[in-house]
Amino acid sequence: MLKCCCIGTLLCCIVPIIFFAARQQQQPSWVPTPPTFVQNLYHTKFKPPANAPAGSELECSICLLAYTEEDEIIPLPCDERHFFHASCITQWLETNNCCPLCKAPVTQEALAQQQAQLGAGNAVAENRIVM
Ligand SMILES: [Zn+2]
Ligand SMILES: [Zn+2]
Repeated sequence: MLKCCCIGTLLCCIVPIIFFAARQQQQPSWVPTPPTFVQNLYHTKFKPPANAPAGSELECSICLLAYTEEDEIIPLPCDERHFFHASCITQWLETNNCCPLCKAPVTQEALAQQQAQLGAGNAVAENRIVM
């Protein structure tokens, strides 16, 4: 009788632990971006594209507000068209280390590459392979 009780107690303790461990493993691999990394992201001011059709407004995919001139934005390394309000993307990157649009991981390497491209300017665009 006593033995049975012990096993019961033991099971009660172990089962939640197993469940907890299993749940931890199932969690998606989104990891927060290190704060220093977020601070080092390239900031710029929003400029409406000169060739945009009249009446079209670009909006931030996170807060869904249209950009206004002089808004501070952060373009992500994955795509030059993937940019967001600086405050929106900073908050996003605190919990998700990826682009909200294409899910590309925002890594130190990608950032270094982006900065190299920005430094190289038009030379990089010309070197792009056209398929
Ligand atoms: Zn926004
Ligand atoms: Zn992207």
